[in-house]
Amino acid sequence: MKNYLFEQKAVFAFNIWSIDSARAVIDAAAEKKANVILQTSSGVFEKIAKKQLREFVSSYASDQGIRAWLHLDHCRKTTLIREAVDLAWDSVMIDASDRSVGENIAATNAITGYAHEQGVLVEAEVGQIRGAEDNIVYAQSQIASREDIDRFLRETEVDMIAAAFGNAHGIYQSEPQLHYEIVEYITEKTEIPFVVHGGSGMTDGAVRRLLEIPNVRKINISTDVKLAYREGIMTAYKNGLMERDGFQAVDVEHLIHESIGSMVRSRLSLLSE
Ligand SMILES: [Zn+2]
Repeated sequence: MKNYLFEQKAVFAFNIWSIDSARAVIDAAAEKKANVILQTSSGVFEKIAKKQLREFVSSYASDQGIRAWLHLDHCRKTTLIREAVDLAWDSVMIDASDRSVGENIAATNAITGYAHEQGVLVEAEVGQIRGAEDNIVYAQSQIASREDIDRFLRETEVDMIAAAFGNAHGIYQSEPQLHYEIVEYITEKTEIPFVVHGGSGMTDGAVRRLLEIPNVRKINISTDVKLAYREGIMTAYKNGLMERDGFQAVDVEHLIHESIGSMVRSRLSLLSE
């Protein structure tokens, strides 16, 4: 089975929640001539028109001359993961990192066989990454232990691996203390591509440092997409576009599209330095 992460040195994965947000990300990626991953959280996955989003991403990205893959981010529910596999999502993340490493391995293996049979890649995580993703909230930081990493790599057949190395979801309250040595430990130990969670709010310097590590191949950006969406609405408001008289939804949507696009382009610039 081909792992799409090997098609380029590294790829950013942006969370989207609609056809419009997907289009904003694809347009920006096409401008930068970069392939891209669009991720749906499991909460979003439950709400969207799945089949139509799948069709849109494939056809629109190919019209724009890039590859765009669909990924199911942090998911604890086997039924949802199976649904994503059946709907030809390109990859899925089973997140059982809140359980013991043994249980995490069992949950991961329970989904890997099913996904691989249909050519869908599997991502999993060792150690819990701080912050809130959908309703998944972790109280405290937990750096993945070398022991757990070793065992996880030995006993699973995942295609992408994430690990807690001091990174967090959401907005960082202060500069995160990233344990690059954990990332290096994993990437030296295995060929399996490493996934960086919590890329939103990481400084460009931190992302550059991570991208220098061979086999760091996927960098997740979620919060920044939502904040860019919000920023678009705020700009519309400040520019008087939200007045009742003469209100044009299309103008507001254009500002949102531009706001998401500019954030995406700025992150993607890090790939071509
Ligand atoms: Zn994450």
